[in-house]
Amino acid sequence: MNEFDLVILGGGSGGYACALRGAQLGLSVVLIEQDKLGGTCLHRGCIPTKALLHAGEIADNTRHAAEFGVNAQFVSIDMLAVNAYKDGVISKLHKGLQGLVKSRNITYIEGTGRLVSKNQVEANGVIYTGKNVVLATGSYAKTLPGLEIDGTQIITSNEAMTMEYVPKSVIVLGGGVIGCEFASVWSSFGAEVTIIEGLPRLVALEDESSSKQLERAFRKRGIKFEVGVKFASATKGPEGVTITLENGATFTADVLLVAVGRGPVSANIGYEEQGLSMDRGYLLVDNKCRTNIPGIWAVGDLIPTLQLAHVGFAEGILVAEEIFGLNPRPINYDGVPRVTYSDPEVASVGLTTAIAKERGYDVVELSYDLAGNGKANILKTAGSIKLVAQKNGPVLGVHMVGSRVGELLAEAQLIYNWEASADDVAPLIHAHPTLSEAMGEVHMALAGKPLHAHG
Ligand SMILES: Cc1cc2nc3c(=O)[nH]c(=O)nc-3n(C[C@H](O)[C@H](O)[C@H](O)COP(=O)(O)OP(=O)(O)OC[C@H]3O[C@@H](n4cnc5c(N)ncnc54)[C@H](O)[C@@H]3O)c2cc1C
Repeated sequence: MNEFDLVILGGGSGGYACALRGAQLGLSVVLIEQDKLGGTCLHRGCIPTKALLHAGEIADNTRHAAEFGVNAQFVSIDMLAVNAYKDGVISKLHKGLQGLVKSRNITYIEGTGRLVSKNQVEANGVIYTGKNVVLATGSYAKTLPGLEIDGTQIITSNEAMTMEYVPKSVIVLGGGVIGCEFASVWSSFGAEVTIIEGLPRLVALEDESSSKQLERAFRKRGIKFEVGVKFASATKGPEGVTITLENGATFTADVLLVAVGRGPVSANIGYEEQGLSMDRGYLLVDNKCRTNIPGIWAVGDLIPTLQLAHVGFAEGILVAEEIFGLNPRPINYDGVPRVTYSDPEVASVGLTTAIAKERGYDVVELSYDLAGNGKANILKTAGSIKLVAQKNGPVLGVHMVGSRVGELLAEAQLIYNWEASADDVAPLIHAHPTLSEAMGEVHMALAGKPLHAHG
């Protein structure tokens, strides 16, 4: 009775996508989740942060309303109401997802699971045996040695998501995606924000030009940051949290958000005992997400690929299809769209200039400034779209900064993943006036026929 084609441990993006696709293909599926279906993305990640960012955007729009001839006055942020809005979004999506899982006849088990043999997971004292076991236990917010999370003054994104007040001042330790998104939210909500980043620039995985533009925009917004500096220690006192950097500089704020990355949830659930290969806690897999043990697969933040919800979805689907025998194509991780949803947004797909050069491409690059785009002027947003391309060859990367540029990734990823060249894209007509015209313009410019740009 407890035998299934797929036993899936973890009901986040990776696990539930695998369950839904597996069930759709007619496989029998049990999905075991100890907390809430939907995992980090829905309850503590993508969705709540984007709701907070949207509330922040409304606050900023209200502050700047007069620039558009609209009389409005920004009064204050009511965090209880912001949280009610955010929780309403989560709750609606959570209900929808629960309904979807039910409708596909997936056996859903609430409980903490443990891998007890090469094809069995135990939860609530019951053994679930699978022809295949898919591990999707996700990730947790890391901290640094000597930096203890107390949940009130020194927090991670988990607590930042549910705060009932706007702190007067915040230090954000870590200028990656999560750090920059919270810096953006709190600045919009009226807090004084300082980011501390050990690497030489904010969003250091992005193209250097995108980091520079984000830094310029943050400076303009009054968000302070120090880059290339390492954290040394933190102390708590009546005036707040004081952190000291290795160079001796100190910073004090009401709250310290620790956003130094996420580590895999893989300890004490039987993975080591069964002999699964790991590196720093990440399960090692091949390009079809197979672990070293036949019949055990791993997806999502638990494996060392991009920690993104849509990567988890793709890996979950890939595994279900591979098990069913559809022989799906392995994922091209360079072709995964990436967005930092701060104001301004940073969005990219494909290779940065530096990586393209490292890989030996003869690189050409070109930037189109959003100053030449009608819609960007209407929105009063600054930014650009930069193309990295192989000389006389396909587009190798698209890098964008500006309001709403995340939405332009839909087209950018088609261009990159279909290996289109500037000449292929230049003749495509883009609606006027849209931000997407800038995508057309940058390709027209690279193809040697710029329209609204000096060529
Ligand atoms: C603040 C923040 C913002 C983010 N924003 C974005 C974004 O905008 N876009 C984006 O693409 N990604 C974003 N992410 C990343 C995204 O949330 C993750 O990549 C995604 O959730 C990973 O999915 P997963 O299934 O691997 O893991 P998770 O979503 O973490 O799911 C793992 C699940 O396994 C369960 N579990 C763990 N151990 C056990 C056990 N022993 N028994 C039973 N269940 C168990 C957990 O309870 C959890 O529900 C964000 C993350 C954070 C933290």
